[in-house]
Amino acid sequence: MPFVVTVECINCGACVVGCESDAITEGELQSHIDPTLCIECGTCELNCPISAIIYVDDAEYEQMIATQKKVQS
Ligand code: SF4
Ligand code: SF4
Repeated sequence: MPFVVTVECINCGACVVGCESDAITEGELQSHIDPTLCIECGTCELNCPISAIIYVDDAEYEQMIATQKKVQS
């Protein structure tokens, strides 16, 4: 899943509206991309006014998930 929403997100909703796959949902603090729905079109990255969506490769993504799990445990 190469596109992720970072903690910079201000929940403005611009990416949610622009995603044709309905892959983005607004959370309490920030939006989230569902990797099972995302078709990796890149529109959200372009639509975000503060560049809070970034492209990461699969290895970087796995590392981010591993780090998150460590922080949560
Ligand atoms: S890359 Fe495209 S499909 Fe994936 S979340 Fe962004 S706008 Fe939606
Ligand atoms: S467009 Fe950017 S700031 Fe707005 S909700 Fe999406 S990720 Fe967050």
